[in-house]
Amino acid sequence: MHLGDLTVYHDGRFTRYDDAKIGLLTHGLQYGTGCFEGVRGFWNAHEEELYLLELAPHYDRLAQSARILLMQLPHTTAELIDISIELCVRNAFRGDVYLRPFSYKANEDIGVRLHDVRDAFAIVAIPFDRYFDTARGLRCGVSSWRRMDDTMAPARGKITGIYVNSALAKSEAIMNGLDEAIMLSAEGHVSEGSAENLFIVRRGMLHTPDASQNILEGVTRRAVMTLAREELGIETVERPIDRSELFIADECFITGSAAGIQWIESIDHRQVGDGQRGPISAALIDLYDRAVRGNVPKYAHWLTPAYAQ
Ligand code: PMP
Repeated sequence: MHLGDLTVYHDGRFTRYDDAKIGLLTHGLQYGTGCFEGVRGFWNAHEEELYLLELAPHYDRLAQSARILLMQLPHTTAELIDISIELCVRNAFRGDVYLRPFSYKANEDIGVRLHDVRDAFAIVAIPFDRYFDTARGLRCGVSSWRRMDDTMAPARGKITGIYVNSALAKSEAIMNGLDEAIMLSAEGHVSEGSAENLFIVRRGMLHTPDASQNILEGVTRRAVMTLAREELGIETVERPIDRSELFIADECFITGSAAGIQWIESIDHRQVGDGQRGPISAALIDLYDRAVRGNVPKYAHWLTPAYAQ
């Protein structure tokens, strides 16, 4: 499907992607004053159904990001869920998708601020396959860029401008021949990937940076903790994690809506475990893949069917 022909939602109406224009001086573009979400939809070919994953937690987080930016979303979470469904129906997707809802400061004038600026809102939905090559593990490196600190700009909001931090780290990693960056917090503990949360396995337990390490409090992170506890009987400890713990972990993986669960092969040129996909990572990847496509009834409440409404 050609991008320009997709139906998008912009400021209260459905329109063609190519017809939804914004001006060059738009505040959110110039100053990064916007916030967004990344929501996945997974196609179940057997049922001919598109399952949208964890819509309410994503829209609740969008409302929180908006609040930080002195914005008011134009719709409630319930309304946003309905719009998301309609968007998929209008585009008649038959495959995996990615939804990008976003709110941005829309004035076209000069002057950086958050107050007294008009907001605008849009949702773009596109066909989307894989974020990483899942056939192999990732080669990661600890970034020279530290994760933005809450005292500078709040990383727990999914805020447009803060993604310069992620982009610097990601490009540094790729240009150094790696697949993904792992950022430390300003205080020097492990924070997260450029667009993913991070978990390590040590002595049969999961450990992940706690919310004070300037992480985005990921929806997938929470889902993984639930699957680990309920299906594998494994608890997750949320705590500050040292860089050197990455080197001695038995397993390590990152999680995100776009990335899913992706296992890590090496960090800073040190093999993680035996350099293969570990058993806990493998079990979680399998469980998650089945759950998001509607194949685990116990987690059906995570999913909104787009077509069987
Ligand atoms: N951290 C950052 C910086 C991200 O951009 C994302 C992707 N939204 C995540 C973590 C993972 O969050 P989620 O599981 O909610 O997609």
